Order: sequence, then C-alpha cells, then structure tokens
Amino acid sequence: MDEQSRVALVGCDSYEYEEVKKALDESLMLIDALSFVKPGMKVGIKANLVSGHSPDKAVTTHPMLLRRLCELITEKGATVVIGDSPGGLYTAAYVQGVYRAAGLSDLESGELSGKVRLNQNFEVKEGKDPDAVSLKSFVYTGWLDEVDAIIGFSKLKTHAMMGMSCAVKNMFGCIPGTTKPEYHMRFPQEHAFANVMVDLNEFFKPVLYVVDAIDGMEGNGPTAGEKRHIGAVLASKRPYALDMVCASMIGMGINDVQTLLVANERGLGPANVDEVQIVGSYSLSDARIPDFKRATIHQSITFEGGTLFNTIKSKAVKFAYATRPQVRSAECIGCRKCFETCPAKAITMVSSRKAAPKNKTSRIPEIDRSKCIKCFCCQEFCPVGAMKVHYNPVGKVLNKLSAR
Ligand code: SF4
Ligand code: SF4
Repeated sequence: MDEQSRVALVGCDSYEYEEVKKALDESLMLIDALSFVKPGMKVGIKANLVSGHSPDKAVTTHPMLLRRLCELITEKGATVVIGDSPGGLYTAAYVQGVYRAAGLSDLESGELSGKVRLNQNFEVKEGKDPDAVSLKSFVYTGWLDEVDAIIGFSKLKTHAMMGMSCAVKNMFGCIPGTTKPEYHMRFPQEHAFANVMVDLNEFFKPVLYVVDAIDGMEGNGPTAGEKRHIGAVLASKRPYALDMVCASMIGMGINDVQTLLVANERGLGPANVDEVQIVGSYSLSDARIPDFKRATIHQSITFEGGTLFNTIKSKAVKFAYATRPQVRSAECIGCRKCFETCPAKAITMVSSRKAAPKNKTSRIPEIDRSKCIKCFCCQEFCPVGAMKVHYNPVGKVLNKLSAR
C-alpha cells in the first residue's frame, strides 16, 4: 500500500480545546503530517466556509480545530493564511461576514496574532491545466498562489449532487463564489462535475488533508441538513483514500460518491475501503454510523451490461430516486439568493399567497423544471435552508428501507 495514502482516524467527542488538541495532534503525528513545514514558510489552510453559519450548525470547519492546526504550524516558525470562497460574492465585505459568522475572527488575535491571518486577497486568476479531464481552463482564487503549501481542511457532510462533501469536494472553494454556478452549467452531468473536483485537487495538490468529523451533517447537506455527531478527526496526505474512509463511516461506498468513482477510474484512488491503510486509536467499525441519512442516492445504482433488461432496471431505479429542488414556502424569506445563483436561469421570483409573514417581499422562487440541471446550487446557497431536496415518493420509501 502507498504510504502517502495512509489515513489517520482518531476519536474526538467534542470541540473542547484539550480534546481537540489531543485528537488532532495524534492524527497528524500518525502520518508525519507536518514534516513539510519549515521556518519562514507561508502555509495556506483551505477551510470549508461554504456560507456564513455559526460553528454549532456543523456547516463549516470548526474554529477550534483550525486554532490547534495553526498553533502546530506556527510553533514550527511558519505563518498561516486561512481562506475559502463561499457561495456568493467573492469580496472583502461578503467574505468578512462569513469569517465572523463561522467564528474565525479570534484566530488572528491573542497568541496567534501576527502569525495567522484570514485571507484578504480577493484577486481572481486564470488557470490552465492541459492534464485535466474536465477543467482545462478556469479561474481561481488568487490567494492560493501566495502560499508555499496548501492544507485542505474540510467538514464531513452529505451533498445533494456529489453524495458526500469532504476532502475532495472542499477544493471547489478554489473557484470564486459567483463563478461556481457557471461551472455547474459547463459540467451539468455528475460524472463530469466530479472530474472538476478531482482536477482541482490534482492541480493545486494540497500537501495534507484534514477532516473535521466531530460533528458532521446528514440529510439535506451540505448546508441545510441536520447536525450529526460522528466523533472523529481524520488526516491523510491523499484525499481519495481519506474520502473513502469518511464515506465508509457514513455508510457509503464508491458508487455513492461520484468523486471517489472518477478518482478510481483515473487510477488515483482506491476502489474500496479495504485498500486503505487506516491508523489510529479509533477503529473503522467503531466509527461507522450505519443510519447516517443521505442527501440522495439516485446516482448510486447502475446495472452493468447493455441488456435491455438492465437498461430498464437502471431507468426504473433512476426514476425511483429522482430528486429535484423544492422550496418550502413557510421558511423562505424571499432573499432572491437562489434566483441570483441559479446557473440555468430556471428560477423566477413570483408573488405567492403561500409566502410566510417573515418573507418581507411576499415573493418565493418558482422553478422551471424543464430548465433545471439539478446542480442544487439553490439549495447550497439558501441562507435559511428553505430550499429542500424533493424525493420521488418511491425513492423516499426506498431511502428509508436502505437506511435500516
Ligand atoms: S433551480 Fe436550483 S438545482 Fe435547478 S439549475 Fe437552478 S440552482 Fe440548479
Ligand atoms: S429559497 Fe432561500 S435563497 Fe431562495 S428566496 Fe427563499 S430564502 Fe432566499
């Protein structure tokens, strides 16, 4: 087994400083994770700051874990920049609000003052990658060029389009917020879009990946699901092995997570969790949560072979698990964010008698299903979780049965 693909899995029950310190230190030590850090180096931590939610919502990388990682890096004489591009505007004013909401502002003060800063460089650069499968030319957040090495620090969550959001998917935050929907439009098929994620990981090549799986998100992830305690911290130098272990912990496999599937097709990642060397004080069987609720599994089941019967079976399963975005009018505040984000221009804001009193505009989104490409950007970027994933009733029943 490739030593670089070793995954550290350590139990951690809370975000209390002493517990986080013990778990993170152990996980990093087990894979000799920080030997690359040298005095004078500038290390970039690409956190998951998808939107401005407080740490207790389990949407963003928790600040206590980031604090401890910053301490370990700065003790070695390096400095740290923490950054991400949330959904929405990639501007100082907007991202500053996300930093505040996610509880990161304190990281620049106290003992870390002068050694750690939250990214304030909102320059956008153009990238070219002839080796990419999907993303041969793209724009990206320029702060990543400022740093000598990148660490991806993600959160373990479900994801309506990709199945799971973790180490690999986290790198989509290298694309500026308002450009992300364009890329959904360029690559509307899950397979091609998953290749975008893998392309980004292979282009930026983070030297280390860490996962905050103390509290994760199940159900309507990556922003509107429910917090679920998982109780682990994981680290690896390779994102695909790491995501394979995370997927296995929440009851998924290679066919449930498109990024794992394409990584394996490209010879970059394992085919199953048995191919991964796991080290640490927490066993995979203890870490598993078999009833972890999925966002969707419609893309997960295919029948091999080109027989007519298998084609019919695949179509039937796709129909059963078909999902689409659907607004819950009582929760919608009429902010228009979904309308502004939708890459397919499938959303119109319409007056509605169903609009709740808290909706000051009395307008709610209406989705033109013939235009919708099911990218779920509207769900991801809705600030109040009003955009839900709607299942076909047959799929709902099958989902319940499969969670048993
Ligand atoms: S309506 Fe939502 S899921 Fe459909 S294309 Fe627009 S943003 Fe994507
Ligand atoms: S569904 Fe969400 S994003 Fe869209 S208008 Fe309502 S609150 Fe805003």
